[in-house]
Amino acid sequence: MFGGGVGRLWACGVLVLAATVAGAGVADAAAEPLGSVASGLWTANTAGGVIALGGASSHGGIAGSPLHAPVIALAATPTGGGYWLAALDGGVFSFGDAHYYGGMGGVRLNQPVVGLAATVTGRGYWLVGADGGVFSFGDAHFYGSTGGMRLNQPVAAIVATPTGHGYWLVARDGGVFSFGDAHFYGSTGGMRLNAPISTMGIEPHGRGYWLLGRDGGVFTFGAAHFYGSALGMSLAVGLVASRTGGGYWVVSSSDQIRAFGDAAALAAPRATSPVVGLASPWASSSGLALPLLEYLAAHTQAPPAFSWPGPHQVALTFDDGPSPYTLGVLAALTQRSVPATFFVVGYEAAANPDLIRAEVNAGMSVEDHTRDHADLTRLSLAGIDSELQSTADVIQAASGKRPRCFRPPYGATNSTVIGEAARLGLTQVLWNVDPSDYTRPGTASIVSRVLAAANGSGLVVGIHDGGGDRSQTIAALPAIIDGLRSRGYSFVRLCT
Ligand code: ZN
Repeated sequence: MFGGGVGRLWACGVLVLAATVAGAGVADAAAEPLGSVASGLWTANTAGGVIALGGASSHGGIAGSPLHAPVIALAATPTGGGYWLAALDGGVFSFGDAHYYGGMGGVRLNQPVVGLAATVTGRGYWLVGADGGVFSFGDAHFYGSTGGMRLNQPVAAIVATPTGHGYWLVARDGGVFSFGDAHFYGSTGGMRLNAPISTMGIEPHGRGYWLLGRDGGVFTFGAAHFYGSALGMSLAVGLVASRTGGGYWVVSSSDQIRAFGDAAALAAPRATSPVVGLASPWASSSGLALPLLEYLAAHTQAPPAFSWPGPHQVALTFDDGPSPYTLGVLAALTQRSVPATFFVVGYEAAANPDLIRAEVNAGMSVEDHTRDHADLTRLSLAGIDSELQSTADVIQAASGKRPRCFRPPYGATNSTVIGEAARLGLTQVLWNVDPSDYTRPGTASIVSRVLAAANGSGLVVGIHDGGGDRSQTIAALPAIIDGLRSRGYSFVRLCT
């Protein structure tokens, strides 16, 4: 998404901040071999890409795969042989010698997951939600949470103690909550801060910690010493101490990394999506989740579009039109009082605004299928914007209604596409029933393939009113509609 989109994503405030301090002289870290981090130092980005720094080895990542939610945190195993990524929806992904012990993906959460911390054994981890609810997996014990408390500010991150028998939670205002054997050394909770706290890093012996401001400001507590602030960063998201505790690295969401004290200088990773934090075998620190949530909240004016049907509901969705077959589809639908959703191609819509109006007048939902039927995963952010926005503009001009959903052509999607579309106010809609009507398998086959999927769960049927001869699809509609109704289904319109 949020991808490459760093500048774009944070353009509303953080870049202003960067501009005001740009003269502060950010020393670009020199690329040099790193003895001190040969056992591992990694950054991860929202798309699930992982970058190994210095002498560290890569154990893979998930960049390029479709994600339900952006990645927001990472933690490494004590051997440096693997790491975990956590996503905003609580999904956990494991790599190398990091095992999967469970996650919250697919679970309905009160609050999004904002942090991940691993135990010292590498056999378990905690997830924390923005309300401070803590979820423990593997050998990670539950030592308490702020889940039921009334917080002044949401929780931003979780950091484990070196023993693995406790953890700290840090809130946006720098309030620190300690659990298990984690000691409280102070907080910025009552202080007036220039910028919210993004995360924290621990002194390697657990005798103190650093709080990291989004502006790169560093606050020290306990035996954690001050080695410098990373002012000038557009959005600081991770602080990990060197193994000795005599220094630390600070990483920004826009791929800058700066070393302080005895931490060896590192070449800046080349991020294609915003960096979420930093992990080593001895500590991890991630802080992008809250800024990301705040950004999304500020840019999502409307509640999310209704984009998936419930049990015994079916959404018929028609792609690739409008075309000379669209009126035949509309006739078959209106004859049986069935609402449906049309994902239209922008250049076809521009040439046939009357058909777009006919769809809306018939009570149908008209949504975005890109201007040129483009594979959005192959485009730059500007390309994604152009494909989606121009189509939304055409639909709005023809019908007076702006689409709230998009369907990526070929179902080709990733977190960059989803995120950029979300920024434009468009929710992604895929499908779960594909009778392949575009191959023209015969009317009876189209009907039987759809009805075979009718097991009571919510259905999104992907069929077509454009892109070729759709007479078989039109002929199949009466039997599909009657068959689904006889199986207890009602028809819903998406994206309203
Ligand atoms: Zn299509």
